[in-house]
Amino acid sequence: MNRARRAALVTAVVLGIALAVLIALRTPWVPLPEPVGGRSPVDPTAGLSAAQVDRAEAFAAALRPASLVSLLLSLTVTALLGLTRAGARLVRAVAAPLGGGWVWQVLLGVLALAVVGRLATLPLSAYGEVVRHRYGLSTRSWGLWLRDVGVSTAIGAGLTALGLLALVGLARRAPKTWWAWAGAGAAALVVVSSFLWPVLMEPAFNRFQPLAAGQLRSELVELAETNGTPVQDVLVSDASRRTTALNAYVSGFGSTRRIVLYDTVLDRLPDAQVEAIVAHELGHVATDDVLAGTLMGALGAGAGVAALGWLLTSRRLLRRAGADDAGDPRVVPLVLLLMAVGTLLSTPVQNAVSRHVEARADVHALDLTWDPAAFVGMQRDLAGTNLGDPDPPTAWQWFFGSHPTVAQRVAMAADWARLERP
Ligand SMILES: [Zn+2]
Repeated sequence: MNRARRAALVTAVVLGIALAVLIALRTPWVPLPEPVGGRSPVDPTAGLSAAQVDRAEAFAAALRPASLVSLLLSLTVTALLGLTRAGARLVRAVAAPLGGGWVWQVLLGVLALAVVGRLATLPLSAYGEVVRHRYGLSTRSWGLWLRDVGVSTAIGAGLTALGLLALVGLARRAPKTWWAWAGAGAAALVVVSSFLWPVLMEPAFNRFQPLAAGQLRSELVELAETNGTPVQDVLVSDASRRTTALNAYVSGFGSTRRIVLYDTVLDRLPDAQVEAIVAHELGHVATDDVLAGTLMGALGAGAGVAALGWLLTSRRLLRRAGADDAGDPRVVPLVLLLMAVGTLLSTPVQNAVSRHVEARADVHALDLTWDPAAFVGMQRDLAGTNLGDPDPPTAWQWFFGSHPTVAQRVAMAADWARLERP
């Protein structure tokens, strides 16, 4: 067993190094060269009015503590279930009425643990929705909110249950090498789901209509052609059923590629700003950001499962969780805890990479539209409407920020203009 244990650890380390190399090589660490005379100063208000900044800060001050508490609470509950025998007992108990076989223990166990975790943070989620309602950001009825919570919990729990069923099943068949098969499977799943996920998830939450023929539609189609990434259609999603937030994205690949605009965008933004948003999204397409992200995700998943293979040979951990080995369904709460810890640790890394990739898409948008005024106007309007804090606390941005701050994005547009690109 010692050799299998070492093999899992070595694999985790090798895949982790490969991931680090890929990140180092693929991440655009300097998305825009420094203009002569240095970078433009970052104005913490990003040019928003004092009233807008106050409102965004008040909104953030109402939500941030709740988000942090929710994260800590969810980790605490997961840790209590994974590091004591309480989780194992729950897994046993929920499967007992169905005969208590290992398959039912895994499936119902994951569902029960997901429901417990969701209920623990539900009051905080409801509070968050109250805040979003109070600031006019959410337009969801409470019925629709409950439905959304139910649907996303069910989808998440269902997929996790299937994943753990495969993991425990493999561990029962191949007690020494299960992590290699599971790691390869997890990596493959990341690849498949990153291409299928949007296609599957979009219709679960929204409906889409083609954007009516007209100037905006023609200009967006032309923008995509100029970008060398033609689109099949420009669609409008009924995002206003849930939110007043403004957004757009590009989904699909090759002949199914399409631009999707939130319907909120059409009412509120001038065409030049809609084009700036779409040009940013087309930047992601041009530099294959989804593909690179998928490769990183696949390596990360492989490394993570190999690390899991190593950790699940630890007698001490298994004893705490009340499980015999990785093939014992009572291992499920411990696996969920280790996955949560892995996700937590990888979050700041993922976000650091993401911030640079997003900055490159911003540069691409400016290169494509040559319209820094529309880009800056769009950043301000989005921050104003989405109540984005233009300059969040450094520690918060370091951990949670997937995009550069609005203040940084506006300053970068000034740099772009000073580089005399037009
Ligand atoms: Zn982006």
